[in-house]
Amino acid sequence: MSKPKVATVWLDGCSGCHMSFLDMDERLLALADRMELVYSPLVDAKEYPPAVDIALVEGAVGNEEQARFVRLMRERTRTFVSLGDCAVTSNILAYRNPFPVAAIIERVFAETAEAPVQPGPEVPALLPEARPVHEVIPVDFFVPGCPPSADLIHHVLDELLAGRQPAIKNRFG
Ligand code: SF4
Repeated sequence: MSKPKVATVWLDGCSGCHMSFLDMDERLLALADRMELVYSPLVDAKEYPPAVDIALVEGAVGNEEQARFVRLMRERTRTFVSLGDCAVTSNILAYRNPFPVAAIIERVFAETAEAPVQPGPEVPALLPEARPVHEVIPVDFFVPGCPPSADLIHHVLDELLAGRQPAIKNRFG
């Protein structure tokens, strides 16, 4: 029987949630026997594959490309997990939300840049606000923390791979 397909994704976040994922250390070896990591910053996969069983998503949704991507993920994923406070609440990414996008672009690409530039078309357009993932697509489980502990991430994956519901006491970290 094939192993459940697992993906991890990094949106607007600092990668700290993925560092915590790696902090599972030797437990990763046991998990690797029970799942196939098909898409992640940790593996060399270019396209989000179909029929993913479990996706863990770090970070808020901050731009149009990320919004399109999580919608595609949702279509291709059975169980969707918001991993960490940025995904669950927008967390520090929401600090930009009171300011107009044009003012943020000016601040980052002109006022504070050594050599002012205009972002080209290859830079995805910012959404008016950084949004928690569940405001863009339905989310099945919320894992709090900044970052969530390796123990909590392990509990969530262990339970989901066993076909059980993880016991998460608090949605907010
Ligand atoms: S929740 Fe904390 S550790 Fe995770 S991406 Fe956001 S800032 Fe980084």
